[in-house]
Amino acid sequence: MTDASPLSPNIPPDAVAETVPGPDSTAVRDRAGSDRPHGDLSGESPLALKESRFSLARYLAAELEDRLGNAEAESVIDAAYKRFDGRFALVSSFGADSAVLLHLAAKVSKDIPVLFLDTGKLFGETKRYRDTLVETLGLTAVRSITPDDTDITASDPNGDLWLKDPNHCCFLRKVAPLHRALSGFDAWGTGRKRYQGGKREDLRHFEASDGRVKVNPLAHWTRDDLKAYAAAQNLPAHPLVSEGFLSIGCMPCTDRVANGEDERAGRWRGQSKSECGIHLSLSENARIVDGATAHLS
Ligand code: SF4
Repeated sequence: MTDASPLSPNIPPDAVAETVPGPDSTAVRDRAGSDRPHGDLSGESPLALKESRFSLARYLAAELEDRLGNAEAESVIDAAYKRFDGRFALVSSFGADSAVLLHLAAKVSKDIPVLFLDTGKLFGETKRYRDTLVETLGLTAVRSITPDDTDITASDPNGDLWLKDPNHCCFLRKVAPLHRALSGFDAWGTGRKRYQGGKREDLRHFEASDGRVKVNPLAHWTRDDLKAYAAAQNLPAHPLVSEGFLSIGCMPCTDRVANGEDERAGRWRGQSKSECGIHLSLSENARIVDGATAHLS
């Protein structure tokens, strides 16, 4: 383990000043002062620390993408696991496609932390499927992340916020809990794919988001790739897939998908909403959710 950096504890402090290019690195160096090691930002203002962290995340994402933009998914996971050394987690919904990413991750290390957002609105089948995959794949570090009780009591006492304001509901049941859970991590992995369309069409293996590196090992996979891999590895399927649910989130906001429909057509059916918010930046979330920041304190 290397010495800790205030920005990213597993990145050598020297690497911060050596690798962050352009004006940002100059700013880091100037602020750090000549009598402190490069990257030592102790005493910096929260805003300066945030700017430095965001700059470093953008640099690291670009550097990793340069090297691994066309790499195999397992190599992408392996690189993130090693580069962020204990500060890389996967986020999994334990949904329809989750087994593939989790199987690939388990080949790298069964100890990679996996964050599971238990919103309080999930299908019982999803929780049982989580338990099945944990046992089948031998995952040792799956953590269930739950909403803050105070938030729920204050903003969704009757449990029907999903009906009245789904963006707000997603924020307090998914976005804010994930934000808190990621506080110990510098990078996190998702199961998003380009073929899912919308904002995912241009997805890269590595991107920067809110001062962290986001890793998308399956970005280039097709639906047929996923099916073939799951079949070859004999991975258990989510029990709701055979009932017509091709993308599975919370029970109130997930519908069956008809033949020929987009696989995500059953999510928030009939609404303009197509993403839960965890893949938007916090500032984007704040623009669409009144009072969002109150849930982050
Ligand atoms: S998917 Fe629906 S129930 Fe789940 S957090 Fe979002 S709005 Fe709430």
